[in-house]
Amino acid sequence: MRSIDDLDVRGKRVLVRVDFNVPLDTGADGAAVVADDTRIVAAMPTIGELRGRGARLVLVSHLGRPEGKQDQSLSMAPVVARLRELVDASITLAPAVVGDQVKALSEKLGEGDVLVLENVRFEPGETSNDPELARALAELADVYVNDAFGAAHRAHASTEGVAHLLPSAAGRLLEREVLTLTGILENPARPLVAIIGGAKVADKIAVIDRFLELADVVVIGGAMCFPFLSAQGHAVGESLCSEEDTDHARRALEQAARPGHARLELPVDLVIGRRPAADSEHRVLSAVDVPEGWMGLDIGPVTAERYAGEIAAAGTVFWNGPMGAFEHAPFAAGTRAVAEAVAEASGLTVVGGGDSAAALARFGLEKEVDHLSTGGGATLELVEGKALPGVQALDGAGVAS
Ligand code: ADP
Ligand code: MG
Repeated sequence: MRSIDDLDVRGKRVLVRVDFNVPLDTGADGAAVVADDTRIVAAMPTIGELRGRGARLVLVSHLGRPEGKQDQSLSMAPVVARLRELVDASITLAPAVVGDQVKALSEKLGEGDVLVLENVRFEPGETSNDPELARALAELADVYVNDAFGAAHRAHASTEGVAHLLPSAAGRLLEREVLTLTGILENPARPLVAIIGGAKVADKIAVIDRFLELADVVVIGGAMCFPFLSAQGHAVGESLCSEEDTDHARRALEQAARPGHARLELPVDLVIGRRPAADSEHRVLSAVDVPEGWMGLDIGPVTAERYAGEIAAAGTVFWNGPMGAFEHAPFAAGTRAVAEAVAEASGLTVVGGGDSAAALARFGLEKEVDHLSTGGGATLELVEGKALPGVQALDGAGVAS
């Protein structure tokens, strides 16, 4: 994979696909403001380096789901306002995504200047990867850089189509994400311990399968554990647990039993409640058969201590998915214990998933992990072993460097 080190950018117009898909809030004057600028800040290394090398920058991102329409409530204007606070440069918001007017603005850019295109999903051709839109984007620049790791699993015009039309390379964020994640899969310091939790079992079963092959220990928590416990014949009460997920879990248990596969760890105790809410009746269950009328909403204290022990002994830790309904205080202890163990671990620690990142932030530990992935779906697909279209399309992809 080529990086921006491999590009000659001085005086060139560089189209940078960034992931500025940030949450918005309503400001004091009623206008939209950026509620969380993490993703904008994450693009700073690439923007700073390219500007420092005399590039003329054209930034493009999606924001929300305008579904091919010019929805002004999803304009890039609030993002540009925040960008102006972070980058000391001439920054212009284009009136549209592509077109003659936008092209003229790109040609007027001086070295180090920045043009931000309107929300690329205002164009219906973005998500359909329309070659016309890709061509119109390519006309705005001489070189293409993809730094939008969070969108790299989508074959869209601004992430995939345009990459074939210009000399291209990976930006710093995308490069770091891909190298870190493939590094822990291909050559991890052992033992490699994967902690998988959260609620989206169907989305994550392929990740569990992959780690059963690659890791030394796979630790299951969150709502994820109930299909596994159910497959083992335990009662799950009202816990989240579909029949389809139980079939997936049964197959994963069979796979784990084969020689050469990771040891699979499941909870030995739980915190149960009537419902996922702060004021719910709740108690610790020192077993894993959930009574009728109750839901399993967190791993129990004995399980949390065991899982922390696995993390402490790991050479590499991959964590995706909270251990319980951590948003509600009675069900937060398991996730907190795992987050603290990850923060204190001596091994390399990699965390993916929006809610896992939110959990770390809630406990004030987000700075204590080695790599906090900015991708949700992209992180999971890469870990599953799928090729990411936005990475595959770049010059030199697949070539070891
Ligand atoms: P991530 O975003 O980190 O990939 P997910 O989106 O898969 O994680 O899951 C996060 C959600 O799972 C949280 O909202 C959390 O409340 C919920 N959750 C975790 N454990 C349970 C459980 N036992 N029962 C119900 N919901 C749970
Ligand atoms: Mg989530």
